[in-house]
Amino acid sequence: MQLAIKVKLVPSQKQAKILLETIEAFNEACNFVSQIAFENRTASVVKIHRICYYEIRKKFNLSSQMAVRVVGKVADAYKVARNKKLKLEKPYRFKKHGAIVYDQRILTWKGLEKVSLLTLQGRQVIPIVLGGYQEAKLQFPRRGQVNLLYKNSKFCLIAIVDVPEPPEKVNKEFLGIDMGVKVLAVDSKGQVYSGKEVDKKRIKLDKLKSALQKCGSKAAKRHLKKLSGKEARFRTWVNHNVSKKIVEKAKRHSLGIAIEDLTGIRERTVFRKSQRRQHSSWAFNQLRRFLEYKAKLAGVIIKIVDPHYTSQRCSNCGYIDHKNRKTQSNFICQSCGFSANADLNGAINIAQLAVVNQPILTPVMGVKSHLL
Ligand SMILES: [Zn+2]
Repeated sequence: MQLAIKVKLVPSQKQAKILLETIEAFNEACNFVSQIAFENRTASVVKIHRICYYEIRKKFNLSSQMAVRVVGKVADAYKVARNKKLKLEKPYRFKKHGAIVYDQRILTWKGLEKVSLLTLQGRQVIPIVLGGYQEAKLQFPRRGQVNLLYKNSKFCLIAIVDVPEPPEKVNKEFLGIDMGVKVLAVDSKGQVYSGKEVDKKRIKLDKLKSALQKCGSKAAKRHLKKLSGKEARFRTWVNHNVSKKIVEKAKRHSLGIAIEDLTGIRERTVFRKSQRRQHSSWAFNQLRRFLEYKAKLAGVIIKIVDPHYTSQRCSNCGYIDHKNRKTQSNFICQSCGFSANADLNGAINIAQLAVVNQPILTPVMGVKSHLL
C-alpha cells in the first residue's frame, strides 16, 4: 500500500527565496519545453531531451539533473494527455508554482531532521518538521521520487512510502475448543483430541503407584516421586502436541480459536471423582497456556468466552436447559430435538459465542522461556 506523506520544510528566509526562485525557473523551463514538445508532437523523453536539453540548461541556469527532471515532467504531461486521447490545441501550460519532482540524485534525507535539496544555488540543507504520524510512516521504504510543493507561502515535500498492508480484520469465525471430560479436547468441527495415550499411561502408572504406596518402603517412596515427574512430563508432551495441532488447524482455515474461561472448565469437570482426577485443572491450565502462546506465535486470535451454559445450550437453536444434557456424553435438545455428542455441542457453542460476545481479554499468562 502506498501512502503520500507530507513533510513541512522550514527554510531560512534566504533559503525560502532560493527555493521559490528554483520552483519558478523549473516551471518556466517546463513551459518552454512544453512548447517544443507540442510543436514536435512528441511525448518522448529521448526526443525532447535531444532537441532542447542543452538549451534549457543554459537558458534557465539549471543543473543537469534539474534539466532532466524538466524534460521528464513535460513528457509525463503529454503522455497523460495522449492516454486520455485529449486533443491539445495549444501547448500544455505549467503553473508558476507547480511541483518539482525530485529523485534521490537531487534530494537526500538527512535522518529525520533535514533534507538536502538541489536548487539554482546548489545544494541547500533545510530542516524539516515531522509529526508522530509522519515520523512513523517515514520508517517504511520510500520511493525514489519526492515532490516539492509551494502552497500558501509554505514549502513542503510529498514523499511516497510503501506501507505493508494492515493485518486482516478480527476473525469472523472461530474454531471452538471444548476441553472435554471424556476426551482431552473436541473442536467445533468435530475433531477429537483424545489424549488416549495419556489415559493409558495414567492407568498403568496408577496401578504401579498404588502398589508402591502399599509397600511404603523408602525405596518405594523414591520411586513414587520419580513416577509423578514422569507423568507430568508425559502430559506436557501431549498438551504440546494437541495445542500445536489445534493452532495449525485454525491457521490453515483462517479461524480464530475460542476457548472457555478457566473457571468454567473447573465447574464442568465436577462430575465424578474419578473423572476429576483424570483431567486435573493443572493439565487444563497447561493446555490453555500452550494454546495461547502457540496461537500468538502463529498470529491466530484467541478469544475466551463466558462458559455459562455452554454445556446446556443447544448449538442448533440456542435453547438453554439443563435437561438438554441427558447424560454426560449425550446432548439432546428439549426444544428442537437436535442431538449430538455433548462435547461437540459445547465446542460449537463456544465457537458461536466467540462471534457474538465482546472479547474477554486474554489474561497475561506466564510463558516459560524454554517453551518458546
Ligand atoms: Zn435445539
